[in-house]
Amino acid sequence: MSLYAELHRHLGGAVVPRIFWRYLKRTGHPLAAEYPTYESFEDFVTRPRASLAEYLELHALVEPFQTLETLPYFVSKLVRGAYVFEGICYLELRHTPFYRTDPVLMPQDRIAQMREVVAVVGEAGRDPHYPLLMRQILCMHSRLPYEVNRAMLHLGASLPEYVCGVDLAGPDIFYAERLDEWVALFAEAHALGLPTTGHLYETPDGCHPALLPHLSRIGHGIQIALRFPELLPGVAARGQCLEVCPTTYLKTGTLQDLTALRTVFERCAAAGVDIALCTDNAGLHNVRLPWEYENLLTQDVIDFDQLTACQDAAFRHAFAWPHPHPPRVLLDALISDTARHTGPSKGESE
Ligand SMILES: [Zn+2]
Repeated sequence: MSLYAELHRHLGGAVVPRIFWRYLKRTGHPLAAEYPTYESFEDFVTRPRASLAEYLELHALVEPFQTLETLPYFVSKLVRGAYVFEGICYLELRHTPFYRTDPVLMPQDRIAQMREVVAVVGEAGRDPHYPLLMRQILCMHSRLPYEVNRAMLHLGASLPEYVCGVDLAGPDIFYAERLDEWVALFAEAHALGLPTTGHLYETPDGCHPALLPHLSRIGHGIQIALRFPELLPGVAARGQCLEVCPTTYLKTGTLQDLTALRTVFERCAAAGVDIALCTDNAGLHNVRLPWEYENLLTQDVIDFDQLTACQDAAFRHAFAWPHPHPPRVLLDALISDTARHTGPSKGESE
């Protein structure tokens, strides 16, 4: 079994449709009546959308279900699945805690409740039966006001046992009017010691070179390689890794087929830019991380050398992986060490 690091997975999109549907049935939710069979529900959540904005409406549908009371259930199930079925040993799970707070509270009380949300998610991610290392990335959101986004930065910095970085998410059509604000928030995150990532250069609407220097990693970034390859040397010089999530581009209508990613891999390799393959929304897509790799292999977008390079890059660019080497290198060292110690004596005795 390979061991994977997953750097880009949203809490809202991480719950697999069957777990979600069973929850709806059990609680008698009206959505369960609307989709009386599992197959009809799966079709509803996994079918491609016309745009990123429409695709993100699915998150808005899931988020209200993820409350302080239900988060332990959903997080523990997704951690179990990631460990058992995907071979994930390191997971950065991202979410906007404000959207998991109680909507009847006043804004200031919702901001205060975000701390509880992060703690509940963090504790639910610690299960000795499924011992992967999970950290959270808190997502600033393009629909939320400055005060809420800034509060998330300070919350993240005060909870290093749970939070490893911050992100910018939400519809990218709203980025342009607030560019100065995002630059200031990213600068503040770095000043607080928090690494940054951001959904950038994912679609043609989200291409803002002014934000690029402020990111530790780039969420998606495929349009840099496809449409602005002249920016790649700068990305390489800053040591930024692209978090490429293949299935997303089909679901949002950004790409018609995955073969377009061949250009992304070729240009990034030539420029020395690392790529980590990620799922974005493994549950809603119903495509888990090993299958993202396999899909690219079978469609000749990458070969096995590139696959290994992506696996290792994910650990190298992880915000909180606690070792300088990825597990594959550690295992190689362990195996060769074992061979050195057992090989000669075995030979002598034969
Ligand atoms: Zn994302």
